[in-house]
Amino acid sequence: MRSACITLLFCLLLSAASSAAPSPTLRRVTVDGRDYLDVRAWAASQRLQVVSSGEKEWLLTNQWQRLAFKSESIRSEINGITVWLCYPFLAHKGQPLLSLLDYRTMLSPLLHPPRLPPPAAIRTVAIDPGHGGRDPGFPAGDESEKHLTLQLARELQRRLLGAGFKVLLTRTADDTVDLDLRPQLARKAKADLFVSLHFNAASSESKDARGFEVYCLTPAGAPSTNDPADRGRVGALPGNLNDRFNILLAHQIQRHLVRDLEHADRGVRRSRFAVLRSATMPAALVECGFLSDPDENAQILTAEYKKELAQTLTQAIIDYQRTVQRAPSPPAPAAGP
Ligand SMILES: [Zn+2]
Repeated sequence: MRSACITLLFCLLLSAASSAAPSPTLRRVTVDGRDYLDVRAWAASQRLQVVSSGEKEWLLTNQWQRLAFKSESIRSEINGITVWLCYPFLAHKGQPLLSLLDYRTMLSPLLHPPRLPPPAAIRTVAIDPGHGGRDPGFPAGDESEKHLTLQLARELQRRLLGAGFKVLLTRTADDTVDLDLRPQLARKAKADLFVSLHFNAASSESKDARGFEVYCLTPAGAPSTNDPADRGRVGALPGNLNDRFNILLAHQIQRHLVRDLEHADRGVRRSRFAVLRSATMPAALVECGFLSDPDENAQILTAEYKKELAQTLTQAIIDYQRTVQRAPSPPAPAAGP
């Protein structure tokens, strides 16, 4: 049986830098030793209306935001994009609860984006074409993933250069490059962002899978979406220093891919992939469609579609740049009685 211990009013104010939204009320509730956010109290402080259907589905809305959660589920939807939580959303004695870790490392940075302190800026982007050399990645008919990722990386490089960024490719030919070396190359080039490009293939359990997935680093101590068993095995990794930026980058990329290219939304996910673990700059790994799906495969093999993918990724990176470089808004006046 679930034991519950309720901690009384625990209010924190977000640092002033984040947005003009009213300061959030963070009332902590502890269930089975894990800290959760009292979602109703928080939603009231953010002027979000909470509607539940049978305490199974929860919808939080206002003029700007639409947040959807399901009880006992790690699937959420944040402003139209699927995001996988680290821990299931709970309805505990009728009270909707989101883990404080998911609040701090996902919901808060998406609703109140972190800003770079001036003069920091996004100037150099490291693009990491997945696989290469002895590692072909997934097969794609006569092609292999390693060639497709390099073709896409070159298209993306061209567009980012055109948009005024400096660009580093972690490989420029069919070379074997160690996974640990890739973020090191980015760090040496003083890259401000790291974007790893891959194409996907379905496993036997999900053979009809199609669409886009974007991964960012799992917060310290939490389970990964792609490996729920790895919880707690590792503490904070170098990439966890950028948790708030990582999720923002991943969400921006997934939002553009899903909306602009109209493929299935498989969500922003968490992983401790080697290239994400040691990246010292905000990083995401993008799965740009399924080579195992005949329709997506045929599309991915065309030069035209890779240009569309590159254009969409460029726009996502520009949006991320604009978001984190924007000056913080002044705090809004306090809510009336
Ligand atoms: Zn891959």
